[in-house]
Parts: sequence; C-alpha cells; structure tokens
Amino acid sequence: MIKKLLLLGVPLGSFMISHGQQAKPNVVIIISDDHSYQTIGAYGSKVGRTPNIDRIAKEGVVFHNAYVNNSICGPSRATLLTGKYSHKNGFKDNETSHFDFSQNLFVKDLQKVGYKTAWIGKIHLGHQLQGFNYYDILNDQGHYFNPDFISNKGTERVEGYVSDIVTDKAINWLDSIDTSNPFCLVIGHKATHRTWMPDPKDFGAYDHDQFPLPETFYDDYSSRKAAAVQEMSIDKDMRMGYDLKMFESWEKMMADGNFKRMNQEQKQQYAAYYKPIYDKLQADKLTGKALAEWKFRRYMIDYLNTAQSMDRNIGRVLDYLKAHNLEENTIVIYLSDQGFYMGEHGWFDKRFMYQESFRAPLIMKYPALIQQGVHTQASMVNADIAPTLLELSGVKKPAGMQGVSFVPVLKSPQKEHRKRVFYHYFENGEHAVSPHFGVKEGRYKLIRFSKRV
Ligand code: CA
Repeated sequence: MIKKLLLLGVPLGSFMISHGQQAKPNVVIIISDDHSYQTIGAYGSKVGRTPNIDRIAKEGVVFHNAYVNNSICGPSRATLLTGKYSHKNGFKDNETSHFDFSQNLFVKDLQKVGYKTAWIGKIHLGHQLQGFNYYDILNDQGHYFNPDFISNKGTERVEGYVSDIVTDKAINWLDSIDTSNPFCLVIGHKATHRTWMPDPKDFGAYDHDQFPLPETFYDDYSSRKAAAVQEMSIDKDMRMGYDLKMFESWEKMMADGNFKRMNQEQKQQYAAYYKPIYDKLQADKLTGKALAEWKFRRYMIDYLNTAQSMDRNIGRVLDYLKAHNLEENTIVIYLSDQGFYMGEHGWFDKRFMYQESFRAPLIMKYPALIQQGVHTQASMVNADIAPTLLELSGVKKPAGMQGVSFVPVLKSPQKEHRKRVFYHYFENGEHAVSPHFGVKEGRYKLIRFSKRV
C-alpha cells in the first residue's frame, strides 16, 4: 500500500490525515458498582431491563465466565488499573489499604504512546491520582444526590443525581479533547451500590413486577460453617430505615445521612414515594417469612430502579460515540467491580467466592475486531483486562503484569483462555465474612476460610 501510494505521488502523511484514520483504538470503560449479572438482560435476566447495556452486547461479546480476583470495590479497581492481583498491587481491602498510584498502571503505558486518559466518577482508591490527564472523581463512595466531586481544582458539590452528573462530566470531557488522537476514558458509576437510592423519575418502574424468590433464599448453610456466620442476610441484616427507606416520620427520614444532602424537592419526592409503602407495611403487620419476602421484594425494586438511571446514561454515552463517528474505532467495555447477591443464599452484598459475587458482568464491543452478538464461555479474571487493552493498543505488556491478554478470545470466542481462576478475599470486618482464598476449575471450587468458626 505504501509503495503504491508513493508511486502515485501521494505522500503517506496526507493519506493518513485525509482519511482521518488513527491506528490506535479509543477505549471507553464503564465500570459500575455491585451490578449483578442476574439483573442484566444480556445475561438472560427475567427481572432486570437494561436495554442500553444490552446494546453493547448486541454489537459485541458477552463474557459468561468473567471473574474477579477479590470481590470488593477498591481492590477490583486496583486490579483493573494494574493488571495485578491484590497481593501484588498492594490494595487488598477497603478498610486498611492505601493505593500506590506511583506503580505501573496500564493508563500510564497508554499515555506513553499518545493517549489522553481520564477517570470520571467513582474510583474509591483515594484522591492522589497518577496516570490520568484529567480526573473528576467522587469523594470515596460518593453520594447519590448532590455529590461532591474532586478534581485538580479542588472539591465541588454538584446539584443533581449522580448517574446523570457522572455522564455529563464524561461527555463534557469528550467534547473538550481532540478525538483525532486516541483517548482512554473510564466512567465510574456509583450505581448500583448500597443503599440503592433511585432517581425519583424512576420510582414506579418496577412496582408491578413479580420477583421469583431464589431457590436458595432460605439456605440453612448446614454444610458451610463460614457462610452461616456472615452478616449480609436480607432477613436479619438489611435495615428497614437505612436500606429500605422505611421511616416512621419525615423527621426520622431526613435525619438519615443520605437524605440530609437532598434539596427540598428531592426530599419531597422521596417522602411521597415511600410513605404509602410504609403505611401499608404498618397496616399489614408482616412477620417471619412474609416480612423477609417483603424485604426481598423492596430490595429488588430499589436496586432495579437505581440501575435504570445508570442504564439510561450508558445509552447517552453510546449515542455520543455514534453521533461523533467514533463507534468504529472505539473499544467499549461494560463491567461491574464484582457480582452481587440478589437474594441467593438469603443475601445481599458480595465478598464470598460463591458464584454470584465472584462472577461479574463483562461485555465488550469493538467493531473493528469483535463480531456482533457473540457469547463466550472462556474463563477470564479482571487482571486480564489491562494486558488485553495494551495488546489492542499495540503496547508491549510490561514485566510484572500478571494478567494475560484475551485478544485471542475476541478473535475466536470458542477459544479457552484460563483453565483455573484464583481468588483471595482479605478483608476481615464488615459483614463478618471470613477472609478466604480459593481456586475454581470447571464446575469445582476449592475454598479455604482462614477464620475459625
Ligand atoms: Ca463494589
């Protein structure tokens, strides 16, 4: 091709410019928090409606065996950035770890070959970011309403709903850069993290849906001692006020930290939606299993209502890429930082190496390489994402990066990737889950819990 162009007297530079082509793909990573594959349409959910996440699936590949090496917020993002397991990147748990941004991150490798990089939204790895040309991040866990954002200009409170604001900021950044050069944007959503506070415009979206009780909802844990002592039961541990917004008065509702941040209109919308639910609950005087199942149902509704805004906002990003002719050369990844229990074993939350939290949604599209509507059973772990992106960007994997690129699976979805997946949960506090480690091969898992029970 080069020879032919030279023969025709067309300098190579003008060919590249006139066709607006760039060799390196753009990267948009959308990472949600605690979003369960059980509630995503592309994973066959009968309860959740996620038309925009499903768009990514229709145009790309759904991973049915994507796992995380440590099923909790900060450690998962640390692994995404470093391509290393928690014990190597140093961020082992949310409670005691400090993330060292001076270590190698895949975004730093991308910067070296001309990428502009940004993280917008939840990162949960502190505020001293490196490797990003731009950042505008939620403070720690962030808030659903009127959240504080931290950028190099300092901390600013922004009025509105978090999923909308994060997306506004992401689109503003895309508008501000020269997209004829490659970029890597990470959009970190707060949704669908506890305490599942929906945008008021989504109240009612699931009020008339039926939610089948998971077969294991009344698990007695008789063969699993460590599972018996956790504190993540919908029945016993999910709080009526903090989690399910059941307050006996306006004053008590507004005294809760999540409501204190709201403006008057937001407060009134919340009180108007939840008061009739509270009044009916009082009238019905539910106890025992009936109350446990009522809690499960309310949990599902709040969770799915919260996911609704995130999904809508993911659609805005996809629309933006299309409208700006960026679709063909942009890799879009949708993933959650881990999976989540939707009543299986009677639980909410994550942490355990059992399938619902160990396995996470991962969907990817890249029209230049990945076929449309593909499903793969290849096993992979979140440490594999960084080396995959580096390979797609033509960057050599740095020494010490533990993940293995799954580009061969993107080309041939029938290929195997990992025979075994390793896991290590280090935290030893919240929800009383014992630290444990394990290995999964095929349908089997070997798990060792280190706390005596
Ligand atoms: Ca999480």
